[in-house]
Amino acid sequence: MSSERKVRVRFAPSPTGGLHLGGVRTALFNFLYARQHQGDFILRVEDTDQTRFVPGAEEYINECLAWCGLTPDESPSKGGKYGPYRQSERKPAYRQYAEQLVAGGYAYYAFDTAAELEEQRKLQPNFRYSHENRLQLRNSLSLSETETQQLLESGAPYTVRIKVPTDETVTFTDMIRGKVAFDTNLVDDKVLLKADGMPTYHLAVVVDDKAMEISHVFRGEEWLPSAPIHILLWEYLGWGDSMPAWAHLPLILKPDGNGKLSKRDGDRLGFPVYAMNWTDPKSGDTTKGFREMGFMAAAFVNMLGVLGWNDGTEQELFSLDELIQKFSVDRISKAGAKFDFEKAKWFNHEWIKRSSGESLLPQVKEVLAHHQVDAEEGYIGRVLDAIKERLTFVEDFWAQASFFFVQPAEYDLNAVKPKWSAEKTAFFENIIPSFENFSNWEAPALEAFFKDAIQASGMKIGELMMPFRIMLVGGKFGPDVFQIVELLGQQEVVARIRKALVEFGA
Ligand code: GLU
Repeated sequence: MSSERKVRVRFAPSPTGGLHLGGVRTALFNFLYARQHQGDFILRVEDTDQTRFVPGAEEYINECLAWCGLTPDESPSKGGKYGPYRQSERKPAYRQYAEQLVAGGYAYYAFDTAAELEEQRKLQPNFRYSHENRLQLRNSLSLSETETQQLLESGAPYTVRIKVPTDETVTFTDMIRGKVAFDTNLVDDKVLLKADGMPTYHLAVVVDDKAMEISHVFRGEEWLPSAPIHILLWEYLGWGDSMPAWAHLPLILKPDGNGKLSKRDGDRLGFPVYAMNWTDPKSGDTTKGFREMGFMAAAFVNMLGVLGWNDGTEQELFSLDELIQKFSVDRISKAGAKFDFEKAKWFNHEWIKRSSGESLLPQVKEVLAHHQVDAEEGYIGRVLDAIKERLTFVEDFWAQASFFFVQPAEYDLNAVKPKWSAEKTAFFENIIPSFENFSNWEAPALEAFFKDAIQASGMKIGELMMPFRIMLVGGKFGPDVFQIVELLGQQEVVARIRKALVEFGA
């Protein structure tokens, strides 16, 4: 492979349902590599397994990539010079390659029916169609040429299987794992072309990677066992020189590190595994996704970017642009990366903090509308700047900031009552006219004035600050009291003191 080869990478999901976060990470790493090398990032939909095809899944994949900002340069919907980008649309092209392999002695016709294979599996639970038993099965290697010809002419259904060589070692250098070797005696004779004329993934992936001039394949570690089949096919088809470089990404593991993270783990442990909500068209069941749980795309992408990769420093927060700059295959780990939902939430929290109030406005307005609150955008933006560092999700906005829009419905009286006194009531009654006439309604001036007034009263700052907060907020939370005072404004603060004094009693 020449080093000047144009970088062309592909994300090749099968449209079978919601997109697992591992799938999005694969897309991301492909995308990063492409952008870093001024290459092309291609979306190819691998839909040759018609039994697993699910309507709506392709649209879902498009939406997911768009949400994450991983826009393909070529795709089924966008097109491109190397189309079609949907495998099923290439169906007529695959058979010739299967035939070429048979003619070259690298593959064979297998006439075993599904029932016959089922029977074999019953007899031997570990049944594999391989060099060990292929001569005892019904195929063009075990049957005579005439028998084979007759079967083909009679229209008997058949598959084409690869003839994996005996006693050989397939080796290749994985960009992440280094040298990898496979003993061909342990590899079975995979089906390449199915009885319905559709290629299997193994044949289609090689033919398409060649046709699309793919230079590097970044895919999940679960595909590593398939690599020897693919490498043999590249060679057998005579394309060894244009074979892509391989990189098998580390698995994403369950939080306890015991095995691959599955959708079921998410259901069991109460966190999303899919990027976005997915509704199964048959059952109508919806599986929650990160997006709908309130994750920002930037946080989701950042979290995936460091799942199995780091830049060699302690830095954890990366924008997509920073990931493009810093990503390096050398720093992808070989070991599986444990998924940690608490950490995912931390990323979201950090990204909300880094976002401007203005950029969060649309989502926050939705939250407010849900509570029948309509407020001026400038005000919402200022409230957001005051409280955004308290949010894990934008949805938390109401719990953290409702008091900026509606008066407290109740007060934490347990925190106030035991120490409430006539002296404190008098203090606040006296504050009201001063606030009404206050000319410079800004937090620092208000704070200085309020603290002076407490000192003049002979009481302690702490004794009055907490009740004041509860008057405005209802509870012992929220940002700096004087920031709240400034934002609520003169009239509202006075109204809240009056109302609370009634509640607190004498
Ligand atoms: N269609 C395969 C998948 O669903 C693609 C694997 C590969 O990248 O070769 O992940």
